[in-house]
Amino acid sequence: MLGVLIVLCALLGLAIGSFLNVVIYRVPNGMSIVSPRSACPVCGTQIAERDNIPVLSWVLLRGRCRHCHEPISARYPLVELSCAALFAGLAARFGYDWALPAFLVLFAGLLALSVIDVETMLLPRKIVWPLSVLVTALFVMAAAATGRWHDLLVGAICGAAWFVVFFLLNLASPRMLGFGDVRLAPVLGLALGWLGVRYVLLGFFAANLIGAVIGVALIATKRMSRQQQIPYGVFLALGCAVAVFAGPELLRPFASY
Ligand SMILES: [Zn+2]
Repeated sequence: MLGVLIVLCALLGLAIGSFLNVVIYRVPNGMSIVSPRSACPVCGTQIAERDNIPVLSWVLLRGRCRHCHEPISARYPLVELSCAALFAGLAARFGYDWALPAFLVLFAGLLALSVIDVETMLLPRKIVWPLSVLVTALFVMAAAATGRWHDLLVGAICGAAWFVVFFLLNLASPRMLGFGDVRLAPVLGLALGWLGVRYVLLGFFAANLIGAVIGVALIATKRMSRQQQIPYGVFLALGCAVAVFAGPELLRPFASY
């Protein structure tokens, strides 16, 4: 019955992706994510229920506001589709596992943070703190349900270790690694540590490898200067995704560690 879970998670991902769009737009602008209702950023007309269906509404309206006909960014359906794909992928990866909710929430948060990091170079505390608390609570729930307290302990130690490592990296090079990344590190260490120490090492390695490759490519093509800040949070999120999704395959030779 894995197919049922994957479809349900994909649909949930569409709905959560729609919520993430609100978070991505409003949190960096200091607006409430609860009220008022969503409105067209150009003409200010509130978006009706029927025009607020993830992806479908954007396609039916051909990417334009129903009232002022100004284009609506393709970012909205793309975030919704990405969230649906991530949720479906996590359902396929973990199946009916008590840790699935923790990973769903973590990756929803990482998706929102990545878009915000690219646009503003910030990882807002208003997202990082609640995300960290919620994900931690869900892992405690998973440990309580399955008795995997040892994995939780390993995760907690890895979370603390990542905090220390990132704190020192931030001291050494605040331009490359901002304090937002230091705040985000513990929850990532916890999630990957739950899977095993080798996943933490793979996530860290993958994040820096992806960051280095993209950074060098951007500098070489003069899209970025050497002095410019990089959105390291995006690479952290990508490294985490590599560890979670490709980890079992990539780490097979190290399975006994
Ligand atoms: Zn409008």
